[in-house]
Amino acid sequence: MSDPTDPTLGIRADASYASLPPRLYSLVEPTPVARPELVIFNHALADALGLDVAAAAAAPAVWAGNRRLPGTTPLAQAYAGHQFGHFTRLGDGRAVLLTEHLDRQGRRWDIQLKGSGPTPYSRRGDGRAALGPMLREYVISEAMHALGAPTTRSLAVVRSGERVHRERPLAGAILTRVAASHLRVGTFEFAAASGDREALRALADHAIARHAPEAADAERPHLALYDAVVAAQARLIAQWMALGFVHGVMNTDNMTISGETIDYGPCAFLDAHRPGTVFSSIDEAGRYAYGRQPAIAQWNLARFAEALLPLFDPAPERALELAQEALARFPARYEAAMLEVMRGKLGLDARADEDAEDAAIIESLLEWMGERGVDHTNTFRSLSSSRPGDGARDGDGEGDPAWRAWRSRWSARLARQETTWPEAQARMDAHNPDVIPRNHQVEAALDAAIAGDLGPFERLLAALADPYVTRPEHAPYREPAPADAPAYRTFCGT
Ligand code: AMP
Ligand code: MG
Repeated sequence: MSDPTDPTLGIRADASYASLPPRLYSLVEPTPVARPELVIFNHALADALGLDVAAAAAAPAVWAGNRRLPGTTPLAQAYAGHQFGHFTRLGDGRAVLLTEHLDRQGRRWDIQLKGSGPTPYSRRGDGRAALGPMLREYVISEAMHALGAPTTRSLAVVRSGERVHRERPLAGAILTRVAASHLRVGTFEFAAASGDREALRALADHAIARHAPEAADAERPHLALYDAVVAAQARLIAQWMALGFVHGVMNTDNMTISGETIDYGPCAFLDAHRPGTVFSSIDEAGRYAYGRQPAIAQWNLARFAEALLPLFDPAPERALELAQEALARFPARYEAAMLEVMRGKLGLDARADEDAEDAAIIESLLEWMGERGVDHTNTFRSLSSSRPGDGARDGDGEGDPAWRAWRSRWSARLARQETTWPEAQARMDAHNPDVIPRNHQVEAALDAAIAGDLGPFERLLAALADPYVTRPEHAPYREPAPADAPAYRTFCGT
């Protein structure tokens, strides 16, 4: 029942992270802001979390950090990270973990405020965030969720009524982020670098309890945790690749233990399918290009293994051997995850006797797409529109012989499975989105929202909420950016 006077907003506060060794965090309160004003609130997410939706939607002071929820222990987490390959000590420099929340099923969620003011980890930063990037994280993270990729979620964006100073003064805002946890590869790197073995062990046990409870019963629980993270990241990256998602800043501090996508700074979706695509203005060497994401994930997982080594085995050589074996499973796991998602996209059944042929069909399609630079999303979505071999659409791709050859190979494969064409079509449509957050559409919606008109932002959010169903309202969101538009550039979300 909604009780507008309930100061908890239905949050069942808990603080398991605060019971870890104190070197892993700093107790810090959000810094209140001048005039909290709700910009957007995620009623569906609040409901899914079991919050008192009406009370939560009417509590901008809570989501701004101005009003403390009873029973909570706000803290900033310490972490380190390899940023573009270089090790650095970091930490939540502009975020505070407000509380953990236990939902009705007993699942534990982090509720974090991003842009909540300085912390001991802020270094030279102001601890604040601007409205545009926070709304951008809101829309893209919610789109990712609807697209079916594991991700942190966005509960609210509140204007602070203050200015933040970047190259120019901008409206300040705070995002409420919800995550299965904010544990990162970098959290473990921090613990390992501190040299405090017991802190590292406590952190790893905490991660097992939250994300890999079955690992607790394994012969080597910390190795089983590592293995579970390797598997979760292999699945996640396969989903990104299938969706044409470019994270943009895959530093180890932006890679979660939960297998959720986190940190929507310079990320963007492909229009043209080109493996070398880089959107981030600071990624000059293309380290985090679309096509490099699987290799980078593996590189990051190697850093994770290094941090966990002392927990794998007391003998360093044995620990290294175990780590190498576990990490070596990443490529096969990634390939298996890719085969599974791509089969969905092509309407193919899982059949062991077709594994090699399917892998080859997928590879040749992706190669053709990369050579021609065709639109990633629309090329996949259009596969279900006509049965290959019917002739009618086989000439698409502008009479391209390579395209016709590919379609006939795909057609022969479809003919070898029991699944009917209508079933295959339904399967494809459930895996190939009709809409994604197109860069030019996101920018237009953000520009309007910052100027005070939330209409375009809300319409975009509504279209992205149901991306696999063909709807008339999707029409304006299907078009790629005009061919003569300048290359899309993104900036780290500060
Ligand atoms: P990111 O690039 O968003 O992953 O951030 C990298 C690190 O910089 C994290 O430790 C952030 O907390 C910190 N950071 C980013 N922006 C700010 C800011 N405005 N003030 C303080 N710290 C920041
Ligand atoms: Mg980050």
